[in-house]
Amino acid sequence: MSHIFPRHTKQNPPVAVRGDGCYLYDSNGKQYLDASGGAAVSCLGHNDRTVIEAVKAQLDSLAYAHTGFLTSEPAETLADLLIEHAPGDLDRVYLVSGGSEAVEAALKLARQYFVEKGEPQRGRLIARKQSYHGNTMGALSAGGNAWRRAQFGPLLIDMSHIDPCYAYRLQQEGESEEAYGIRAANLLEEELLRVGPETVMAFIAEPVVGATAGAVPAVKGYFKRIREICDQYGILLILDEVMCGMGRTGSLFACEQDGVAPDILCIAKGLGAGYQPIGAMLCSKQIYQAIADGSGFFQHGHTYIGHPCAAAAGVAVVKSLLGRDLVSAADRQGHKLRTALAAEFGTHLNIGDIRGRGLFVGVELVADRMTKAPLDPDRKTAARIKAAAFEAGMICYPMSGTIDGQSGDHVLLAPPFIITDPQIDELVGKLSKAVDAGLA
Ligand code: PMP
Repeated sequence: MSHIFPRHTKQNPPVAVRGDGCYLYDSNGKQYLDASGGAAVSCLGHNDRTVIEAVKAQLDSLAYAHTGFLTSEPAETLADLLIEHAPGDLDRVYLVSGGSEAVEAALKLARQYFVEKGEPQRGRLIARKQSYHGNTMGALSAGGNAWRRAQFGPLLIDMSHIDPCYAYRLQQEGESEEAYGIRAANLLEEELLRVGPETVMAFIAEPVVGATAGAVPAVKGYFKRIREICDQYGILLILDEVMCGMGRTGSLFACEQDGVAPDILCIAKGLGAGYQPIGAMLCSKQIYQAIADGSGFFQHGHTYIGHPCAAAAGVAVVKSLLGRDLVSAADRQGHKLRTALAAEFGTHLNIGDIRGRGLFVGVELVADRMTKAPLDPDRKTAARIKAAAFEAGMICYPMSGTIDGQSGDHVLLAPPFIITDPQIDELVGKLSKAVDAGLA
């Protein structure tokens, strides 16, 4: 009998024993094509020797040093590398152990920044309904996904959640993409004016929405207008690239393609590529300087921040992404994947939208592609697709539509950037069968 506390207590997941390239293997020898890189984590695939050797070497020299006393060489190198390639005037890196920790650090830094600047009334956060920012209480409060929030009500921080930029469902007929982008972004200004802009510290969003909606990019111009509004009202822009960052969308940081830079950027997942748990919060010179000129102390921290072995993995991952041109590979293979999906599903009655950027791809399922009517939630189509794909030897990331109608049932695909053309064919073939089984 297993003593593991599994995600679903009624299921006994197989035991994974080995990974190689785009495949995982369980203890019965069954092979799985990892079409979602776990949860958009394994950007380099499994068993990348360079990263493994880098972590081993770090363990041999220094396993751990508490950041209250010391920094470490891999942490310094990783911070330098990230800042060298980061957009805008991001200047400082705070290393953590994952995505939720990166978001928590971002929220606390935003708050402390305004307190130190003498604007303590700025405590409110605005986010979007279609969003997931992590599972710890602060990050969960920031997220707008109604299903994930439902049970934790009284403990969550009071927030504003505005409608997302979701062209498939919210762009009106006859409305141009540009006009829709401006209209969607202006919802932020409306909310600021409703609650009082002087009470708001920040707006947080995922440049390409991941776990709650299935790779939804904003339309062109949306984030530029968001940036303008943030600047006009003096609030910080926090971009959560935990899922969509680190090359996943075909540029090292997703926001590069929107032509904006945030004040605070959160990354994780692909930063460690699954070889170590690591995340990071990057902040602008201005924010760092305000703390440096004020108390001189960011009142935050966890035991394992800046862990040398995690940082060593991060360095090896970033060097691999850049040195092996894997970000362009994500862009190129992503185009091929979307083209293959369009060929397979382009006229399928139940496939409403195929979207995404790079190797961050979403397929939205509907009852009828002409009306975009969502599927009956009681049919649990997404869960059935996931089970059918798993049975057939493929891991993908289907999610049910949200109870507030902010997204429909969808499948998120985020394979390793090393995925080959035949593996793309295998992925689409297996997904096609799983979709049929899920809809049957
Ligand atoms: N933000 C986003 C956008 C995410 O997708 C996730 C994880 N799915 C998180 C934050 C939380 O990251 P973690 O699970 O590493 O805590």
